[in-house]
Amino acid sequence: MPRTQIEREFLRLFGNHPAVRSRAPGRVNIIGEHTDYNGGYVLPMAVDRYVEVACSADAEARIRVVSSAMGECTIGFARLEEHRGRGWMSYIAGVIHGLLARKIRIPGAQLLIESDLPVGAGLSSSAAMEVAVALALLQLADVVLERREVAQICLEAEHDFAGVPCGIMDQYAVLFGGGGNAMFLDCASQEFEKVPSIPPEFRLVLLDSGQSRQLAASGYRRRREECAEALEYLSQAGIRASSLSEVTPLALFSQQEKMPGRLFFRALHVIGENRRTIRAAAALRDGNMIALGRLMYRSHQSLAARYEVSTKELDRLVRWARNADGILGARLTGAGFGGYTVNLVKGSAVDEIVERSNTGSVVIGSGETASAWRI
Ligand code: ADP
Ligand code: MG
Repeated sequence: MPRTQIEREFLRLFGNHPAVRSRAPGRVNIIGEHTDYNGGYVLPMAVDRYVEVACSADAEARIRVVSSAMGECTIGFARLEEHRGRGWMSYIAGVIHGLLARKIRIPGAQLLIESDLPVGAGLSSSAAMEVAVALALLQLADVVLERREVAQICLEAEHDFAGVPCGIMDQYAVLFGGGGNAMFLDCASQEFEKVPSIPPEFRLVLLDSGQSRQLAASGYRRRREECAEALEYLSQAGIRASSLSEVTPLALFSQQEKMPGRLFFRALHVIGENRRTIRAAAALRDGNMIALGRLMYRSHQSLAARYEVSTKELDRLVRWARNADGILGARLTGAGFGGYTVNLVKGSAVDEIVERSNTGSVVIGSGETASAWRI
């Protein structure tokens, strides 16, 4: 008898029992914003909300997918290209493409996706779904792949099939984070160190600014271009660095008078945010949530004033947090231009904060690492 809800639902939909299950957490980036594509540091943790997959193999060269959130589709192995850039299906087609391109003989399959991760709240539901699907299909094919390779497949799916130019952080956090740890990740070398996650007496609360992130895509692209311009400017001035994260504060300040102000401040944010992220990792090692909270507030200030990706509403939420009892730190999360703030909150104050904030909220704690298993 199927035991869990997803197994029962699978049986109802497909008329047979699933053979494999998988589960992948979302992630939240505690600090280190707009540093990933600048070769800098980030500090994500896996959260206790998940994308879950149930699946079974069958004989046809295609995958039939049902997502409780999004609907259903059939993805033929010979026609993957048709799904490029086609919303939620493109992520799955991209994962299948990456597996097949590596000569992994995945069988045809029926696949059910369920999730309690809000979409677009900055919790990386997209990476969680890619990873849950990839691990399930690998388990179904009885193939063990290094997790770094799985991350690469999922990243390529997101870039090439979904058309989202994200960094490696999301897939790494989902595949390697969790189990009581956050990960201090160097996006340049892709090396990471596990540090303790937020202690259980604290929660992270996401608060909705109510502003859809319509400008996020173009704003994000523009910031990436500006960082490339800043690096180019510095290199013309004789400062050798392969990313803004390699530029020292001294070198940057030596150009302050000559450099276009906008480029100077973009670079200053990146350099400062890297330093804050190093200090935040230390604060987590020490269990010093007061220090961590202060760094989050300073991160927001820099994102607003120097990187200019905040909005009035995000600023208002962060100001509100500063005056609310039980909140130790707050900042905008993700690309900015709307979306959510992330707040570090004492567990005992969570209910009141959620109520008084008077906006949409998501309460999260530390989650488990992605995994797949036979039933
Ligand atoms: P997030 O910050 O949540 O990752 P993205 O815009 O990067 O936001 O990714 C969200 C997209 O991922 C959705 O629009 C959808 O295409 C896909 N997705 C996320 N969760 C699911 C799900 N349960 N079923 C199908 N597609 C999903
Ligand atoms: Mg995403």
